[in-house]
Amino acid sequence: MTDSYTRAVNTGFTKTLAKKLGLPRPAVLRRFRAGDPLTVGPVLVVSDDASRGDADALATTLLGWGLDVRREPTDDARWGAVLLVLTEASHPTDVSGAVLAVGSVLRRLAPQGRVVTVSRPAADGDAPEVAAVRNGVDGFLRSLAKELRAGATGNGIVLTDGAAADSPSALATLRFFLSARSAYVDGQLLPVGPSTAELPADWDRPLAGRVAVVTGAARGIGAAIARTLARDGAQVVCVDVPAAGEGLARTANAVGGTALQLDVTAEDAGTRILEHARTRHGRLDIVVHNAGILRDKLLANMKPAQWDSVIAVNLAAQLRINAQLLGADGGAGVPGLHIVSLASTSGIAGNKGQTNYGFSKAGVIGHTRATAPLVGAQGGTANAVAPGFIETDMTSSIPFATREVARRLSSLQQGGQPVDVAEAIAFLASPAAAGVNGQVLRVCGQNLVGR
Ligand code: NAD
Repeated sequence: MTDSYTRAVNTGFTKTLAKKLGLPRPAVLRRFRAGDPLTVGPVLVVSDDASRGDADALATTLLGWGLDVRREPTDDARWGAVLLVLTEASHPTDVSGAVLAVGSVLRRLAPQGRVVTVSRPAADGDAPEVAAVRNGVDGFLRSLAKELRAGATGNGIVLTDGAAADSPSALATLRFFLSARSAYVDGQLLPVGPSTAELPADWDRPLAGRVAVVTGAARGIGAAIARTLARDGAQVVCVDVPAAGEGLARTANAVGGTALQLDVTAEDAGTRILEHARTRHGRLDIVVHNAGILRDKLLANMKPAQWDSVIAVNLAAQLRINAQLLGADGGAGVPGLHIVSLASTSGIAGNKGQTNYGFSKAGVIGHTRATAPLVGAQGGTANAVAPGFIETDMTSSIPFATREVARRLSSLQQGGQPVDVAEAIAFLASPAAAGVNGQVLRVCGQNLVGR
């Protein structure tokens, strides 16, 4: 549910009042619904001269997706999206024409519009001017995203290790950023490498035939993840503690999946998950480590149980489960496993009263990066999603004033919905995203805290 302030400033008398008083007016974000158009209007594709070949290839793909694609900024359109391709720019002075062309249409970017950059990262050995223009895109995109209004977002694809602009994982990422699935992802640059991935036969069911496990699925973000993975075609094993059995059964029934009552801190949690997935569904392809707890205290007041329980559930359980899954079958492990772990912006920027939680979530980012090459060698991936402020039971316990500040301190001026986190996870878990490995994708509305 959209929060009551956002609802008020978008309806009736209170909308007019908020406008007159100059109050922040967060937009009601457009979320994915099967059958809705991919973008809310035509797509403008611009590039610097050297990147024209990549821009042509991407424009051709967008046309194939049924979009109205234009190559010149004109006054007659209400733009649904702008794609800025700077993959081959080799000097900062190369990009001004393309960047200013983007600027010339921003006043006519439709509400819920999208700006997506496509670039390459600065790397060791680059000439200084090449590194300058490549890194420049980062600061440009993050700044531009803060200027966009009315639910519009800006995100970037960073092609690593020579990945082609129209490689399957780059295209899957582009589609995610253009679509309403990325409603609460803003100001993010996602590295995408080469892979042997293939695009899905049906973009509305990219997880068809896959079996996924979601921990902490009884409520909140976990329940939304289970629903979203099932909507995208996966069979879902829903895991939660026995005490949450009712909610767990509700989620499992709603998604046509199975329920596994299990405390993720159990010594044999990974083995039991694998056994359940294989006996009930015949295979295991996706693991979403979502179960998590808060025990907020200033470190000066922290009791051992408060520190230890957070580390046990949020971090040590993920490590143990991964070790059991990757070491299963005498060491061969589950091949091609897609692992997505819940981190948090608190693990990136830090948060007062959350030394235990911040440690656990930064630890998740650490093990994700270390696990990525191990699973990547077999065609799998390990990624993390770092939500900002998401409207759930967990955050409804935060005192009102703190909660209100946390909501508004992002470019989208509102908290996200559980489904926003779920959409990012469904994207990262999809076979086409195999080129995204070892990454942390923030789902935070470009929270002003941290990067
Ligand atoms: P929630 O408290 O609403 O749900 C968490 C679920 O995990 C519950 O169903 C709970 O029973 C289950 N769980 C807890 N310990 C477990 C255990 N030992 N074994 C199995 N299941 C267990 O939380 P949420 O807000 O939906 O958060 C989900 C995840 O997202 C967590 O990892 C959290 O840290 C992360 N996150 C949430 C936010 C937010 O704003 N809500 C922000 C950043 C990160």
